[in-house]
Amino acid sequence: MSREIPYKIYLEENEMPKQWYNVRADMKNKPAPLLNPDTNQPMTLPELEQVFCTELAKQELDDTTPFFDIPEEILGFYKMYRPSPLVRAYCLEKKLDTPAKIYYKFEGNNTSGSHKLNSAIAQAYYAKKQGLKGVTTETGAGQWGTALSMACSYFDLDCKVYMVKCSYEQKPFRREVMRTYGASVTPSPSMDTQVGRQILEKHPGTSGSLGCAISEAVEVATHSEGYRYVLGSVLSQVLLHQTVIGLETKTALDKYDITPDIIIGCAGGGSNLGGLVSPFIGDMLRGEKQYQVIAVEPASCPSLTRGKYAYDFCDTGMVCPLAKMYTLGSGFIPSANHAGGLRYHGMSSVLSQLYADGYMEARSVEQTAVFTAAEQFARVEGILPAPESSHAIKVAIDEALKCKETGEEKTIVFGLTGTGYFDMYAYESFHDGTMQDYIPTDEDLEPGFASLPKVK
Ligand SMILES: *Cc1c(COP(=O)(O)O)cnc(C)c1O
Repeated sequence: MSREIPYKIYLEENEMPKQWYNVRADMKNKPAPLLNPDTNQPMTLPELEQVFCTELAKQELDDTTPFFDIPEEILGFYKMYRPSPLVRAYCLEKKLDTPAKIYYKFEGNNTSGSHKLNSAIAQAYYAKKQGLKGVTTETGAGQWGTALSMACSYFDLDCKVYMVKCSYEQKPFRREVMRTYGASVTPSPSMDTQVGRQILEKHPGTSGSLGCAISEAVEVATHSEGYRYVLGSVLSQVLLHQTVIGLETKTALDKYDITPDIIIGCAGGGSNLGGLVSPFIGDMLRGEKQYQVIAVEPASCPSLTRGKYAYDFCDTGMVCPLAKMYTLGSGFIPSANHAGGLRYHGMSSVLSQLYADGYMEARSVEQTAVFTAAEQFARVEGILPAPESSHAIKVAIDEALKCKETGEEKTIVFGLTGTGYFDMYAYESFHDGTMQDYIPTDEDLEPGFASLPKVK
């Protein structure tokens, strides 16, 4: 009856999705709209177009169209590195001695090393189509900047990356990859922008934050003719592009009549998780099926598990639209010893609404436990995982070990978003035993919450 499941389930090129899935179309409670920070009124298309490419602004505002055709040029680019494999983690199952069946969708098979290329190429395509000269963006750990550099070089677009200063210094190789693809990389905060100069004046010697780099990139885009700003996560358009992950996963599982019980993803701004789970949550929204969906976040940056569901700024400089999301406040800065990524203060407004409505649960995990899981995984499955991805690995292992106790043969699917070759300082501190866990106290979270704007 049941066919032998291969180690890797590959799809044929013609089985790749030809449309992205917009989960908002199936949501009864739509995510709250982005607001103009000056008027507190919903952002309109003409307003959003000042910052984003027109086509992307339309995608951002559309919560009724269920499917968007993926343009041919993007499909062609996807075919260079997709479909990505869905891997049965037989070796991990054996090592854990669990009756659970574990699968992971591996998105690290491209030079940028993560899923971010799925949206980068789409955003670069729309910028090119609109006749723009280039785009600006921020990058934290560097994966998004790398992915966007690759996408921009493919379409001959200029790419200006504002890289959080501590990463710029700690990850010189990421920077060089971006420069190889022709991007200019500036450590943030910089003296190039008004907002950067202000932040430097207030906090001399600061090592920067994502929220601050976003403000700089937006300022440069809105002050440069022929430029727009692009963002690698959080926005609904990014989540839309990332649904190639979940759609492929579903097709691959369907091929072998597999129905997952638990679907797990790490949550930074929510794009990979949203991309992976959207098609499955769509089933739930339409009342067709039930799954357990788990978001995993760092205990040191716990936006879903300890944040407030409120309107907040997406950036530190408070120039971006307001988004309603689970947030720690745009003034929140994770502890300096946090090495595992996923340090954004907020969460996609789509996922926030789904979480508020009970379609998803969330767990927070401490970083030494994350690296323990990363190492355990690397040693049997071969892949050296990104610290971000390892949050999902940690919870997948936890769930598989629960099955061992109960004897349940649950099917667990998780997103393995990328590889960790540029995170060896983090691995080093884990191996040296100098890595520390940090859980903010309620008092530690107060200043961030105090930075929330007052919106009715
Ligand atoms: C950026 C990144 C993440 C987190 O971002 P999301 O938008 O939450 O998906 C996770 N894993 C890797 C490898 C990343 O580069």
